[in-house]
Amino acid sequence: PYNGPSADEVFAKRKTFLGPSLFHYYQKPLNIVEGKMQYLYDDSGRRYIDAFAGIVTVSCGHCHPEILNAITEQSKLLQHATTIYLNHTIGDFAEALASKMPGNLKVVYFVNSGSEANELAMMMARLYTGSLDMISLRNAYHGGSSSTLGLTALNTWKYPIPEGHVHHVMNPDPYRGVFGADAASYAKDVQDHIDYGTSGKVAGFIAETIQGVGGTVELAPGYLKLIYDIVHKAGGVCIADEVQTGFGRTGSHYWGFETQGVIPDIVTMAKGIGNGLPLGAVVTTPEIASVMAQKIQFNTFGGNPVCSAGGLAVLRVLDKEKRQAHSAEVGSHLLERLRVLEQRHEIIGNVRGRGLMVGVEMVTDRKDKTPAKAETAVVFEKLRELGVLVGKGGIHGNVFRIKPPMCFTKDDADFLVDALDYSLSKL
Ligand code: PMP
Repeated sequence: PYNGPSADEVFAKRKTFLGPSLFHYYQKPLNIVEGKMQYLYDDSGRRYIDAFAGIVTVSCGHCHPEILNAITEQSKLLQHATTIYLNHTIGDFAEALASKMPGNLKVVYFVNSGSEANELAMMMARLYTGSLDMISLRNAYHGGSSSTLGLTALNTWKYPIPEGHVHHVMNPDPYRGVFGADAASYAKDVQDHIDYGTSGKVAGFIAETIQGVGGTVELAPGYLKLIYDIVHKAGGVCIADEVQTGFGRTGSHYWGFETQGVIPDIVTMAKGIGNGLPLGAVVTTPEIASVMAQKIQFNTFGGNPVCSAGGLAVLRVLDKEKRQAHSAEVGSHLLERLRVLEQRHEIIGNVRGRGLMVGVEMVTDRKDKTPAKAETAVVFEKLRELGVLVGKGGIHGNVFRIKPPMCFTKDDADFLVDALDYSLSKL
């Protein structure tokens, strides 16, 4: 049993010594002290189904034994010496990661977070093209560092700081977007931005293949293909942010961009790549990578032996445990059951997603799609009482985000849906 400080004590210390911008879930914040695969345990030993995976980060499962073992064994041998010396771990991991990529995406840069990965990708795009202008989608989240905040387009996260040279185009959101699922109309908007807002040349385009923080928003079918053509014609490169969508989570494909039938010029990753380790990566083509060679590009911890050994174990475990196929199977069961709920509960406006990347959007009326902000908050608390932890997203906080560790089972999915059904019936 847990003998550590109480939730109140932990919370008080956090308020005293940590920054005031931290936010927490639940009126009475949970004190999580242990994790095991798809479950989290609080200080009283109560078990919760973790359907948010530490914000879509714990891909294989909390404290997965094989990954834990890889990290532990490497930690005992060598934690850190940096890339100024040789060590096989970083190359082994890079080789394994590159083998998962299509096309000529063969050069890997390791960093420590998603924000860092997108910073580097944006720098590459600008250096390679000699242009500054970036295009990103409204409702996107690409990071919290000062220049990735420029790509991010959700006012909840954006500080009023100079960021510049980013054009936020209309979001091709099939549910709320002004053009519905009509990819061609959204593509016209991108072309307009290039024609009227830039010199005609751009550095690049970046998009999550399913928006995560923005509330599990899939892009209109065919969108990326049209945009990649437009952006390439304007001299830009196309970046896929796979921080949440990669590594088989979408079920149908290993990478989210494959669901749209495109091959990006640069792919960024973080979160699930490390199952909880601070790890991110950028993968690109040798041609784009060559522009980085004009200077030394250095990252002290990027690809350190411990994260590399852990990341390599993640790739191995995902394959060995067939997590992509599992995400497809459990995800479609989950979506099927949620769609039945959607028919019964008027407040559910939209059920969407792929594999284990699912969103349930709540509205007070289906015609105007008014965000059911307060109701979502009530159900969210109720789910926690019932032992189910989900995420909340969208600019109005009215979307449940269901993105569990990929070892999540059909039984877990049934429990979650039953708990949601019960919570909605109590509204
Ligand atoms: N891209 C996406 C799609 C993300 O969801 C996030 C984090 N929520 C980031 C980038 C930034 O990652 P990090 O917090 O590791 O910097």
